[in-house]
Amino acid sequence: MRVYFQKPRCKRGLLSRLAISPDPLFRGIMKISYYGHSCFSVEIGGKTLLFDPFITPNPLASCVDVAALKPDYILLSHGHDDHVADVEMIARQSGATLVGNYEVIQWFTAKGLDKAVPMNSGGTCCLEFGRVTFTTAIHSSSMPDGSYGGQPGGFRVESKESDEGAFYYSGDTALTHDIKLVAEMGPLRFASLCLGDHFTMGVADAVTATKWLGCKEVMGVHYDTFPPITIDHAAAQEAFLKEGKRLHLPTIGGTLDL
Ligand SMILES: [Zn+2]
Repeated sequence: MRVYFQKPRCKRGLLSRLAISPDPLFRGIMKISYYGHSCFSVEIGGKTLLFDPFITPNPLASCVDVAALKPDYILLSHGHDDHVADVEMIARQSGATLVGNYEVIQWFTAKGLDKAVPMNSGGTCCLEFGRVTFTTAIHSSSMPDGSYGGQPGGFRVESKESDEGAFYYSGDTALTHDIKLVAEMGPLRFASLCLGDHFTMGVADAVTATKWLGCKEVMGVHYDTFPPITIDHAAAQEAFLKEGKRLHLPTIGGTLDL
């Protein structure tokens, strides 16, 4: 296994040292592309990060040209098929480095995908674009062949450019007080939260998580793909608005600037 991480020697950015602060801390935009379910990419620190690719098995995402995706990194929250289905194809066509828990990374390195950064809960590493912390998630994790998928998690990603800031992706999780620990690490430009209920937290709990996180902008993921996780878009957005938060539910194949 070729391990592509550096010792965490980069200094924490200005944003990490400040308490929760208003949005004017952030300048410019962070470009997000949404590919359906929990798959999205973010351009940060001059690199493109793709999360949890599940595109070709998702009929709602048939408009996405998977062959055109060339991320620099692919970050995996856990081993379930609806988060890793297209990892192998996209990693081979792009040469992307995989980031995820130890067991998920081992499963893919056994397939010859050896550009990889294995992590585990609570760990932080410094990569070319900034700092990544593998945060707690309350969920389960197994690989598509049924083998052990390690501890599920989420990611807090902080740009090496202090004015770009940081964002948080919950992965699949219940509402848990551990989300408050993410808020203590510094302000967030936005959070990407699962909210389809049934397998993860639902809208009401995602609103609570957003209040704990102290951010105003949220992108919803893990909804509408299967009947049990269908949500009422207008009602969900209204629930966030009541708390002074904005819920984005972007079109699949579309982009969002936050
Ligand atoms: Zn899952």
